[in-house]
Order: sequence, then C-alpha cells, then structure tokens
Amino acid sequence: MAAAPKVEIAAQGAKSPRTLEFLKSGPKNLLINGKWVPAKSGKTFESINPANEEVLALVAEGGKEDIDEAVKAARAAFEEGPWSKLRPHDRTKYLLKVADLIERNREELAELSSLDNGAPIMGGQGLVTAANELFTYFAGWPTKIYGETSPSAPDMFNYTLREPIGVCGQIIPWNGPLMSASNKLAHALSTGNTVVLKPAEQACLVVLRLGELLMEAGIPEGVVNIVPGFGPVAGAALSNHPDVDKVAFTGSTTTGKEILKASVATLKHVSLELGGKSPHIIFADSDLEGALNYAAMGIFGNTGQACIAGSRIFVQEKVHDQFVEGLVNKAKQHKLGAQFEAGTTMGPVVSKVQHQRVLGYINAGKQEGAHTAIGGGPGPQPRGFFVQPTVFTGVRNDMKIAREEIFGPVAAVLPFKDENDAVFQGNDTTYGLAAGIWTRDISRAHKVARKLKAGMVWINCYMVLDFAMPFGGYKQSGQGREFSNHSIDMYTQVKSVFVKL
Ligand code: NAP
Ligand code: MG
Repeated sequence: MAAAPKVEIAAQGAKSPRTLEFLKSGPKNLLINGKWVPAKSGKTFESINPANEEVLALVAEGGKEDIDEAVKAARAAFEEGPWSKLRPHDRTKYLLKVADLIERNREELAELSSLDNGAPIMGGQGLVTAANELFTYFAGWPTKIYGETSPSAPDMFNYTLREPIGVCGQIIPWNGPLMSASNKLAHALSTGNTVVLKPAEQACLVVLRLGELLMEAGIPEGVVNIVPGFGPVAGAALSNHPDVDKVAFTGSTTTGKEILKASVATLKHVSLELGGKSPHIIFADSDLEGALNYAAMGIFGNTGQACIAGSRIFVQEKVHDQFVEGLVNKAKQHKLGAQFEAGTTMGPVVSKVQHQRVLGYINAGKQEGAHTAIGGGPGPQPRGFFVQPTVFTGVRNDMKIAREEIFGPVAAVLPFKDENDAVFQGNDTTYGLAAGIWTRDISRAHKVARKLKAGMVWINCYMVLDFAMPFGGYKQSGQGREFSNHSIDMYTQVKSVFVKL
C-alpha cells in the first residue's frame, strides 16, 4: 500500500482551497456508469507533479476488466437511452450546463491542469477558456445536424438520416488534457454518441475533475465513462474492444498506427490526430518582429509540447542571422519555473521519460553537427523535468532533430534560398500537420499555402485555433478533421431511407 501523498508539498503554491480538497480526497477512482469506483485489480498509480517530482494523488489504474465494464455501460446508455434518444435541444442544454460549470470552476481547473502537466498557470487558464468554448461551440450543433431528401422517381420519397455511430473509445495525450478531453467529449456528446475516455496516465487529474462536473451537470449514467490507465493495457483494451464502434485517438503517429491495426477486426471507425514536424517559413520581406514573436511562441509555448509546434523554422538567407539573434533573445527572456512561481513563463516537460527523450534529441543534434545557439541542456533546478529553451542553427533537413518530433522546447533553424526551396524543404517530412508562412507578398503567401502539404496553414500568424475551422493532418499526421462541420461527419453515419409512395 503506497503512503498517502503529501499534497501541500506536491501542489506547491496552489491557491484554490478546492484544488487541495480534490487532491486530498483519497485515491481518484474510475468513472463507470455514473459511479466512482476503484479498479477491479485494486491497483493505483502515482500522479506526479513534473515541476517537483512529488506525488499529487494516487489514481485507480484501469485494466481490461474495467474497460469491459465501461464499454458495457456506454453500450447500455446508447441502446437503451436516454442519450441517443434525447431531443437535440436537450443535448444542447446539457452541453451548455457543462460549459457553465467549467467557467464556474475556473480557478481549480486551471490549477489542476497546470499541476498535471507542469504548464505555468497562465497556460492552465488558457485551457479552461478553450474547454468552455469547446462545449459552447458543440452545444450549438445538435439542432443543426440535418438529413437530406433526394430527387427520385415520382412514386418514391427518398431521404437520409444522420445518426450517431454508437460507443466511442477516446484516447488522449497529456500535453493539454483539459482541452483534449473537452474536445473529444464535446464532439461525441453533441452528436449523440456515448463514450469511454482514457486519459494519459501522466496527466489525468483534471480530466477526472471534469468527469465530476459532467456528473454535476446531470449527464445520464453510462454516457461518459472515464478510465485512466496505461496505454498498452487500458488503451489497447479499448482500441481492441469488439463492442466499441469508433476510436478517436490523439497522440503519437507510432501509437496511431497501432490503433488503426486494432480497428481491423471489427472495422471500427477511426479518427487520428497525430504528431507533427511543422515548417514555420519566414521570408525576408516579412514583418520580422511579428514573425519572431510567433516563431518563439510556436516552439517554446507549452514547453514545445504541442502537436502543432513550429519545430522547423526556415529563414530566408538574407535575414537568417538577424532572425537567429532575435530568437536567441526570445529564448533568453524565458523564466523556467514551477506552475505558480511568480514570473514563470516556461514549465518542465511532463515526465522523466519525456525529459530523457528531449535531452537525447539535444545530444543527437550536437553529435550531428548542429550549432547550439542557446540552451542545450537540462534546467538548473535540482528537481523537476526542466529543459532549457534551445535553438539549433546550421541544421540540415536530414538530421534527426529536423526529421523526428521532439515534443520539447527545441527549435531547429534552417536557411532557405527562395520560394521553391522553402516549399521543397518544408514538405520534405513524413508529417503534415501544420505550417506557417511570413511574407508581405500577398500572392506569394496564398501560392505557398496551396503548395504546402499540411492540414493547417497560418499566414502572418501561428497556432491560431478556431473551433469553427477544421483541424487535422495530412500525410502521417492523421486521418479525419476535428472541430467545425467536418467533425460532425466524423461522429455520425448516414442512413438512406427509400419509401414507395
Ligand atoms: P502516445 O504515447 O501516443 O500516447 C497517447 C495516448 O495513447 C495516451 O493516453 C497513451 O496512454 C495511449 N497509448 C499508448 N500506447 C497505446 C496502445 N498501444 N494502445 C492504445 N493506447 C495507447 O503519445 P504521447 O507521447 O502521450 O503524446 C504526444 C503525442 O501526441 C505527440 O506525437 C503529439 O504530436 C501528439 N498530439 C497530437 C495532437 C493532434 O491533435 N494532432 C494533439 C496533441 C498531441 P499512456 O500515456 O498511458 O501510455
Ligand atoms: Mg502528472
């Protein structure tokens, strides 16, 4: 039996009494069929604060048998109701209620979110806003999902129904758990599906608190089940489960391929939001100050742990040196620190494994001959998984640090000659999630946007999200689109009804 966590030490400086109350209220259980239950195995795992390596809480470790129970509950809630049988207007009301509860619990959710993955409290606040807006946006959809009538023979009346898919298994990563969970749940609930959600074990506390708010909003039992656990066990049980109709996955491309393989036996619907190695292209004629601000945010924001991080920064030769100097200055301005420490602008990476992985990439960059313009090692803190914001120059597109997703605060800066060279190098990757273009030449901006093989292209900005715009990847960055009307297609199926008059 593990000792009870020393919550005050682990949660260092959290201000909301409700944060401490939540963390102290015993081991965190699984949400199955509207009840909070321990894992059938009785096992728990430790949820760690990455800024000080202390244990925040013990969490029930879901296994295959817990996933089975959760899928059973989701199936019953789907088939017997009430969820898929509710009036669309009523689904809207539930989702608005969740959005409202998120706003009313803002401080606690922001703190838990930051404690979970180490992000400075500002980052946690941003995710609460995003979570609220996701539920609000998707609350608008239930009443706007239409079927069609189709021109037919005079004695026929043919129409389509757009119906939910059924039980959705949803698997998410740790880099923005409140937003990832809200995103996945809002998609499924607005379209009338039921859910078994497996958060990443590194950052699941805020997702469990969100589960409590869903129950407070009155979401009927079995509609949303939350089962934290380890990927190869709970995640694999969910993605292989014969009674799951759809799997929606966000995570690495490697795991995404496993999910797709697992879907084959029962031909599940699958949607995949995967990794990236996105090019951020700065032409010499651009607003360099703006480009610098966004380029720095694009790679150092959330400690580089963003699927859409602009991790390959291509700079036109003429302004290369000036730009690098500016980017190094931006890196210097960052203050590494714990979530609630005054002035912290960059938190640690999420875990020891991730820390070693990112430092391993930094060493690979050095060994392959890239020049470390700044950073290049762990942070000065004696504890916590800190990495210095790092800028590599002299990078070639065939180096490991330019090909593989690092998921840390490590920028690879590469020079380019002209438009063709920028497009060629930008597209020279197995990924295709996002891209950025900086230029004052409007026609070049649009031409390059068309040529880049990426699901999202930002012109003279970066990382702008809008839930009314589709989000997803080209190439090995994913399948399907989240947000917007496109996501509604992904969570529904079409039935053709033929009526002889
Ligand atoms: P990951 O290792 O692929 O894990 C993602 C999720 O999958 C976790 O919940 C993980 O559980 C689970 N998992 C692991 N192995 C599994 C298996 N065999 N079967 C089923 N589930 C399994 O990714 P990560 O390192 O946590 O997250 C970072 C990655 O996510 C990056 O590649 C990033 O680009 C990507 N990402 C993409 C988007 C997007 O929208 N495109 C957004 C955010 C992040 P455990 O954690 O318990 O192992
Ligand atoms: Mg954690």
